[in-house]
Amino acid sequence: MTIDEFIRALPKVELHVHLVGSASVPTVLELSRRHPGSGVPTTEEELRAFYTFRDFPHFAQVYKAVNALVREPEDLHILVTGLARDLGEQGARYVELQVTPYSHRVVGMPARAVTEALDLAARRSAEEYGVRVAYIFDVPGECGAEAAEMTLEHVHKEPPATLVGFGVGGIEQARPAYRDVLRDVFAAARAIGLHSVPHAGEMTGPETIWEAVEGLGAERIGHGVNCLADPRLIAHLRETQLPLEVCPTSNVCTGQVARIEDHPLPRLLAEGLYVTLNSDDPPMFGTTLSREYQVAAHVFGLGKAELAGLARNAVNASYLDAPTKRQLLTEIDTLSAAS
Ligand SMILES: [Zn+2]
Repeated sequence: MTIDEFIRALPKVELHVHLVGSASVPTVLELSRRHPGSGVPTTEEELRAFYTFRDFPHFAQVYKAVNALVREPEDLHILVTGLARDLGEQGARYVELQVTPYSHRVVGMPARAVTEALDLAARRSAEEYGVRVAYIFDVPGECGAEAAEMTLEHVHKEPPATLVGFGVGGIEQARPAYRDVLRDVFAAARAIGLHSVPHAGEMTGPETIWEAVEGLGAERIGHGVNCLADPRLIAHLRETQLPLEVCPTSNVCTGQVARIEDHPLPRLLAEGLYVTLNSDDPPMFGTTLSREYQVAAHVFGLGKAELAGLARNAVNASYLDAPTKRQLLTEIDTLSAAS
């Protein structure tokens, strides 16, 4: 079995991917045809050209354009099931999908309608594509206290059935201005049993990771790659084995890392940190979950045993039930032993 065949066969779990950023060309075509006149191409050829990653400003433009197509609960359903289809084709079994309800609420979708669409889409994804979908509600960091409070209110009043986590993403530099509100909102989300999974240390340094750990009670860190600037933080993350949701291609596309060869993945592993591989906004960055494993293999030279270890890490760091975790781990072990 070649390493690419091995990656294809590996039962994979995706822990860090965003709903709007996960929209692949067929999914966006469906949305743009539902909302003609939006400025997003409605033919496949034009859309593929529009969707080819050029640089970060272009990504931001594409993201904004796709986000503007998400106006009705049916659009959410198309996004979730489109991602499940794409992940199913890659041999992924489970995804914890980051949804930013604030973006959907501000365009007039009621909380209940958002939740009903997400619940229905999760059921359909499991039935049709064999991919289980859980949700993480994510605060858009640059939108301040109002967005944080609206996200919490949604979680309290109308949580989707498979909601497992609470996060914050967007521009990290914006967070200190309302740090105490974020702490309170995370504490309230944790009090009702949600896991704390903030982004941190993607675009700012160790101080944001420390705040995620100490102020937000982080149980996993989105990205976290900039921990390497602080030896005390490295030691802490090694000791606690706090999982990092590492997204190598994303870090290059957003300009955090100059070239994929410069990505700190090997150093994170050499430091003994808990690493998982994820795709973030895959089609917009020209990647997939499988592609991230291929990068680990072909750019950084990881072998099958190491790739299986990363896949196991994702299963263990997920919020799946224990029997399903055991089943996936057994499948990974069986595949590893046979190849
Ligand atoms: Zn992200």
